[in-house]
Amino acid sequence: MSHKKYIFVIGGVMSGVGKGIASASIGLILKSRGFRVTAVKIDPYINVDAGTMNPVEHGEVFVTDDGDETDQDIGNYERFLDANILRDNYMTTGRVYQSVISRERNLEYGGKCVEVVPHIPYEVIDRIKKAATKSRAEITMVEIGGTAGEYQNILFLEAARMMHLKNPEDVLFIFVTYLPVPSKIGEMKTKPTQMAVKSLNSAGIQPDFILCRAEQPIDNPRKEKIALFCNVQKDAIISAPDIDIVYQVPINFEKDKLSEKILKRFGLKPKQKNLNAWRRMVAIAGNGKDKVRVGIIGKYFASGEFILSDAYISVIESIKYACWKYKRKAQIEWLNSDLYEKDPAALKELKNFNCLVVPGGFGSRGVEGKIAAIGYARRNHLPYLGLCYGMQLMVVEFARSVCGLKDANTTEINPKTKNPVIHIMPEQAEKLAKKQYGNTMRLGAWPCVLKRGTLAQKLYGKNKINERHRHRYEFNNTYRSLLEKNGLVISGTSPDNKLVEIVELPPDSHPFFVGVQFHPEFKSRPLNPHPLFLGLVEAGISVKK
Ligand code: GLN
Repeated sequence: MSHKKYIFVIGGVMSGVGKGIASASIGLILKSRGFRVTAVKIDPYINVDAGTMNPVEHGEVFVTDDGDETDQDIGNYERFLDANILRDNYMTTGRVYQSVISRERNLEYGGKCVEVVPHIPYEVIDRIKKAATKSRAEITMVEIGGTAGEYQNILFLEAARMMHLKNPEDVLFIFVTYLPVPSKIGEMKTKPTQMAVKSLNSAGIQPDFILCRAEQPIDNPRKEKIALFCNVQKDAIISAPDIDIVYQVPINFEKDKLSEKILKRFGLKPKQKNLNAWRRMVAIAGNGKDKVRVGIIGKYFASGEFILSDAYISVIESIKYACWKYKRKAQIEWLNSDLYEKDPAALKELKNFNCLVVPGGFGSRGVEGKIAAIGYARRNHLPYLGLCYGMQLMVVEFARSVCGLKDANTTEINPKTKNPVIHIMPEQAEKLAKKQYGNTMRLGAWPCVLKRGTLAQKLYGKNKINERHRHRYEFNNTYRSLLEKNGLVISGTSPDNKLVEIVELPPDSHPFFVGVQFHPEFKSRPLNPHPLFLGLVEAGISVKK
């Protein structure tokens, strides 16, 4: 293929209608036609990365192999495209301005006046092209955050317009809109879409395809109306109704032959058709009869499930993939750690679960409740997986209850504890002292060596792994021998043996009690579920049929 192709995905009418899933799904159907595809996410906010944003408001902070802290959509791209997406594929207004300003300071503009237009869009274009080149992609999806008509993303639309002007045959625009059905009217309304497309037009962009998100499929008269008023061919209006399982979206798009239509616009021919494994996975996902009841213990219970499911999306999806592998449905429930703190008797409800997860977290709220739940899981042989904070708190619980160190704690919660079984990494302390918070945690993929014969090593089926991290605290080696003497197995460490990465209880004392300092959820994929989640779910099924 001579020229690289670019597909911009732009939203209209309102946010939160699934541009990320649409971009990932289009990427997948094009990949299934034999093309190398990557995806870029543009976020219009000033934050240089997503690491400084509250996940309950903004959704999960996704971590890439090369240690970028990104929007959760990068996670969707990785899961749909089954590929590692790197730092170059993510940009924010803050990041773009930061590099233009530092280039100006380095005299890289050769004495020119550096202006918002064209220099900011030029920088955006350079970044998009660099991401495409580095990923060796033939087709690059570029999702622009926000909606058309917003002041914030205008410079990104400007970059897209310029790319199209230069190479019209290599650039396509897909507009993701929403068609409301007001309850009092009972009819799907197209006017907001017409207005939104006008607003996109005023940025010099004409959509090639319009994806119509709505509660129900779009009917023929409305397709005709949108085609006529938005100046788009009727067969380029694609129905995208609400569905239960997001993994169904690529299959729905293919019902409308979207991959063929896009390739035709680019003058390309499909090389193959290969969506079968995905179709099989979706069929199982929708059909599992038996359930696996999985409790996730968090402190954000009061924020409501909708927001929570965004904050922990990679954990949730990883649990689902593992359940699907065993042909079961995942029944995930949010358990409020605050409640266990106030009323330890409430822990009894845990007996009804197949397994338990304490995911990553920060700060002291709800921590004692999490520790109490971990203790319950340990004593009652309830399969447990601790992710990052969930591993650290597992160590605290073990130190307190099994090793008799009553005041054991992480220094994140009690900096003065006499038994800091989890403490801050020295280089992290320096950064915090200098108030250097952004992108300074221990981040990205780090190698880990597994101890032979342990549960972790059996599950992974190898001796050396790479997993993604995002933390400032770690296992305190001073306590290593004491905890080991009391039965905790250190099954994974950094190759130099300085950092404890995985702890577990031996299989003769617990069916599955594993804590990992990293985030396996970032590497679990629908067709390739992560071994630790598979292990947890399998144990959960066998202890409680
Ligand atoms: N708060 C803990 C730390 O910084 C755990 C972080 C996490 O769970 N991602 O080490």
